[in-house]
Amino acid sequence: MSLVRYAVACGALFAAIPSAPLQAQQPMFTTTRVEGTDNVYIFRYQNHQSMFIVTPAGVIATDPIGLTRPQAVTTYIAEIRKITPAPIRYVVYSHQHYDHIAGGKPFKDLGATFVALRRTKERLEATKYEDVVIPDEVFDERRTLSLGGTVLELTYVGRNHSDNSIVMRLPKEKLIFAVDFIPIQSVSGAAFNDAYPIEWEDSLQRVLAMDWERMIPGHPYIGRLGTKKDVEDLLAYMNELSGEVKKAAHAGKCWDAAEKEVRLPKYASWPGYEQGIASNIRRYCGYWGRGF
Ligand SMILES: [Zn+2]
Repeated sequence: MSLVRYAVACGALFAAIPSAPLQAQQPMFTTTRVEGTDNVYIFRYQNHQSMFIVTPAGVIATDPIGLTRPQAVTTYIAEIRKITPAPIRYVVYSHQHYDHIAGGKPFKDLGATFVALRRTKERLEATKYEDVVIPDEVFDERRTLSLGGTVLELTYVGRNHSDNSIVMRLPKEKLIFAVDFIPIQSVSGAAFNDAYPIEWEDSLQRVLAMDWERMIPGHPYIGRLGTKKDVEDLLAYMNELSGEVKKAAHAGKCWDAAEKEVRLPKYASWPGYEQGIASNIRRYCGYWGRGF
């Protein structure tokens, strides 16, 4: 099989693109301990990923990734149970999008406390999607969870792909978990749909200023952890595309002509480029061509 559907963003549906062998062969789900750590794991179910941390005092889980597939959540819990009988104390939401955070009820039934940014809770309360657990505890800007010798910092880094995306950082392990707003060497079409493209660059600068070495992404992308170089590359891509679309907008080319004409060949090898760049341009056309 040479083609595989590859969703590189929240809710994204991309046309089939040539796949790396590892994607063509990948099983429905995997649980992987992050190399160099004793207790940090990545749970992947199809094209979504979540991080969990196992401590003697209990488990900190993150996004349930169970939208329209409750079996992903029961599998997630079963995978944790293969590692530890310790209680699952927390479920932390990365942002409000259902494909990452729906389906958490089985965690709730086990007594987990759900934690999210205050704005995430407000968004979820407004829509009341029936398969989303409303957070029990909220924070503004920053919160630190300490459990069984592990420290997990939760930080709001400003508007980007959503207006409520947080970074989860493990200071000792120098690891972060960031979802949807830092695609790794990939062009993410849907990630830009309701994005804040200019503030997004500021939020990437804030992430770069944090102390970390490796990033767990919310989708597998190209099948490895991210680095600061990946954030810099994304920033460069966004900055260059923004500049080109600004020129096109001032030449009266937004929307259609810009979407057809603006291209950044330097990034053509990134998965999702062909399918996603037009919608990235559309968002920048909104900003530079219409003022929103
Ligand atoms: Zn999202």
